[in-house]
Amino acid sequence: MDNQLWESKYHAALERMDREASQWRSVEVLLRQLVGSLGQVARGTHEELEPHLDGVEHAIRGIYDVSILTPLVSGLSDAVAALRRPRASPEGSSAASRGGLNESGSSVQSALSRLLDRLLVVPRLAERAAALRRDVANAGSLVSLAACGEKLTDLINEQRLALQKEIDALQSILRHVTGRLDEMTQYMSRELNDQSTGQSHGHALEASVANELRLLGEAAVELEDIADLRVQVNERLDAIGECFREFREREDNRLTAYRERAETMRQRIEQLETERATLQRSLEREHELAQTDTMIGMPNRLAYEKRIEAAFENWQATGRNLAIAAIDIDHFKSINDTYGHTAGDAVLRVIGQALVKHVRPCDFVARYGGEEFIVIFDDADEEESLLVCERLRGKIQHLSFHASRQPVRVTASIGVARFLPGDNPRSVFERADLALYTAKNGGRNRCVVG
Ligand code: GH3
Ligand code: MG
Ligand code: MG
Repeated sequence: MDNQLWESKYHAALERMDREASQWRSVEVLLRQLVGSLGQVARGTHEELEPHLDGVEHAIRGIYDVSILTPLVSGLSDAVAALRRPRASPEGSSAASRGGLNESGSSVQSALSRLLDRLLVVPRLAERAAALRRDVANAGSLVSLAACGEKLTDLINEQRLALQKEIDALQSILRHVTGRLDEMTQYMSRELNDQSTGQSHGHALEASVANELRLLGEAAVELEDIADLRVQVNERLDAIGECFREFREREDNRLTAYRERAETMRQRIEQLETERATLQRSLEREHELAQTDTMIGMPNRLAYEKRIEAAFENWQATGRNLAIAAIDIDHFKSINDTYGHTAGDAVLRVIGQALVKHVRPCDFVARYGGEEFIVIFDDADEEESLLVCERLRGKIQHLSFHASRQPVRVTASIGVARFLPGDNPRSVFERADLALYTAKNGGRNRCVVG
């Protein structure tokens, strides 16, 4: 039973790792694109960089080889640092050096931003990811964007290490539990042996008593003298008594040893149960953390993906209505740019809480990433989902945000899609996303059904 429990936990963890591995692959593709775009942007800006850019661009086209990439990246970093040094003093203040990004710089910035939004970091690294997101948003030059790229690499590496640690910990738990189960199996087979020893002791006693009785019967036939017969009877009875005494002694010893083993095993099982309960609690806690957006304190994308999978299965089984809504805050970048990232964070928190408060109790809201939220409407048709979305949109529009005593208007666009025959969570999400895009193009602050 315990074995199955741990095995299923282990397999669930491996499945999660698989999902994360596929996420890394898409991150890798984005990183390649990002390095490509950065390279394009940097082309022609400084002659000294050209050979380094050639090397890096060539290297990222093939299979990654750390031993080739490391010297190339550090060569490029040195060249960039060398460019930075002489320019720092004439340009003066940091505001001057930020100077704003050109069009290509902005596209690199938004690519980095998207990449960070897609990255599902372990809870421990959430703060660092948020800080990096701020750095990217505030980056005013290609040099600072490049520094963000380096930080992103560090973050990804740490995330990989954290996941590896998790796998190691799970494997060691599994080894531990398997060891304990082996111990119990050995105990059981020893007990079975012991039982057959007890049985053979019983058979031996039976045979000895039968033998003594046979001898006694023969004596009764052969001996005529009653005194001799009495002596014989006494001797045989003594022998039978001796057989019983020996049998009892052996059985007593066997029983004592059995009790000791049973007690040791009971303690072992008790210990194992305590360990199992502690581990289960900590796994549940980690599981919960992994599915929580720490900044807002609400379910994150991982939680959404689990939930929609379950809702999808239910929809397939029952055919009950199921719809989702993708919500994206309008012009959020300009809120950050105008009022600062901390104010932006506060706006996200308030909006997240408002969404949770104003959906129906049976609905589910998660922060999908960045300034995007997602809602699952269980048992709601298109009309009803749209009605709730309109209500959410109105609530967001009427939330009161202020900066320097001036009201700040915040709106959101929403794309709604319901499950239709042949759909799956991915296809419905794509339709909701497309509807969201239409809502943005149609002037924002509106809901569109896809
Ligand atoms: P649109 O109306 O087209 O959606 O415009 P937008 O500015 O909202 O969209 P864009 O995708 O260009 O910008 C999203 C911004 O959200 C960029 C990113 O820095 C910011 N952002 C993402 N996550 C966070 C966060 O956790 N905190 C803050 N303050 N900003 C964030
Ligand atoms: Mg967005
Ligand atoms: Mg937006």
